Amino acid sequence: MSNTNIKSKKLKLKGIYNNLVRAFGFQNWWPADTAFEVCVGAILTQNTAWTNVKKALGNLKQKRLMTATAILSAPESEVREAIKPAGFFNQKTRYLVNFCRFLSEHPLKELRKTGTAECRRLLLSVKGIGKETADSILLYALDKPVFVVDAYTKRIFSRMGFVKKDAGYDELQKYFHDNLEPDVTLYKDFHAQIVMLAKTSCRKKPSCRDCVLKGICIKKI
Ligand code: SF4
Repeated sequence: MSNTNIKSKKLKLKGIYNNLVRAFGFQNWWPADTAFEVCVGAILTQNTAWTNVKKALGNLKQKRLMTATAILSAPESEVREAIKPAGFFNQKTRYLVNFCRFLSEHPLKELRKTGTAECRRLLLSVKGIGKETADSILLYALDKPVFVVDAYTKRIFSRMGFVKKDAGYDELQKYFHDNLEPDVTLYKDFHAQIVMLAKTSCRKKPSCRDCVLKGICIKKI
């Protein structure tokens, strides 16, 4: 690929981000009081809406279960009850307990000092932590420059013609890594902006007429 092409892709991606942040404002993600809460949220948000996760997080806080030690010391039934609003609560309780056991060997402060690739490898070795969850933890809890890809990213960027409709997680993530500087603040907010766009205009049935990207999106539907 020519240098001009690479430069234009970089400019386009940055242009999209600039348009989004102008429209929606800086999102200041991830909403959480501690890095551990980010991790818990990332696990609980699998296959459920954030409104349900918020209730589960509130319950954990109310029961004073928002630390790995507290979760590991509590009866599993208590954790299960607290996270019930997030759905799949039997499975998610196991995932949460697995993750807390993992943290007792690899505390967050140690992971923060570990290289990104090794950190990701360790997180992916925990049962219940897939790529999106691991990357959310890496970016939002550990401040590592890893772009988080989700179903919204795939929907929007395949519609816009940046990647193919059947592009996998790694291909999409590579696209962002190749065309953006490894900037943690930018990665955090770009992902948040993508979620905003997917919830407002670029929904399952897109509303291109009202879209903040209508001037630059090449794939109006
Ligand atoms: S113009 Fe349409 S297809 Fe393009 S990003 Fe906006 S809503 Fe999605």
